[in-house]
Amino acid sequence: MTIEVLRIGQRLVRDDRVTTHVALVSRAFGAKKIYMNEINPEIKETLSKVNKSWGSDFEIQYIENWRTLLKSKKKDGVKIIHLTMYGQNINSIQAKIAKEKQILIVVGAEKVPRDVYENADYNVAVGNQPHSEISALAIVLDRIQSGAQFDSKFDGGRLQIIPSEKGKQVVSKKS
Ligand code: SAM
Repeated sequence: MTIEVLRIGQRLVRDDRVTTHVALVSRAFGAKKIYMNEINPEIKETLSKVNKSWGSDFEIQYIENWRTLLKSKKKDGVKIIHLTMYGQNINSIQAKIAKEKQILIVVGAEKVPRDVYENADYNVAVGNQPHSEISALAIVLDRIQSGAQFDSKFDGGRLQIIPSEKGKQVVSKKS
C-alpha cells in the first residue's frame, strides 16, 4: 500500500509544533510523503535532518491548492481517507481500508470545510470524541498496516538503533 498524507488548515507558527509531529509520525509510520500548503522552512529542515540521520527519503511537498491535489489524486484512483471525529468508527472499516492500494490521508487543524467530508472515500473516526490529529493519524496508520511499519527498514541515513532492553545502543551504518 502506498500512503501519503495531506495536512490542511494549519496556521503558521501557532500549529508548527503539531504539524512537525504530524510529519514525523507520517514518516515513522510508513507514509512516503506529506503535502502542505503552508510550510515553515524549519519543519522541512527538521525532517531533512531526521532523514539524514535515520534514513528514508520521506518528503514534504508544498502545494498551492489542496482541492486541486485531492481532485487529481481521486482521478488517479487514490482513495481519500479523511480523519474526523464525525466519521465512521475505525474498528468497523479498518479491514476495508487495509485492502486499498493507494491512499491519501487528510488531517485537519482548524475547522475542516464541508467539501472534504463530501469528497472523501472514507470519513474515519478514531473514537467520536475530539482529540488530536497526531494521535488519530498514528492509530489509523497502525491499524491499517497491523504494525508491519515497525518491521520495515529505513534505507540510507548514518545511524541505526540496536533495540536494547536497557540504555541506548546506536551504531554507524557502513556507507
Ligand atoms: N474542530 C475541528 C473540526 O471540526 O474539524 C477539528 C480540530 S482537531 C484539533 C484537528 C484534527 O484532528 C481534525 O481535523 C482531525 O483530522 C483530527 N481528529 C481529532 N479528533 C479526531 C477523532 N476522534 N477521530 C479522527 N480524527 C480526529
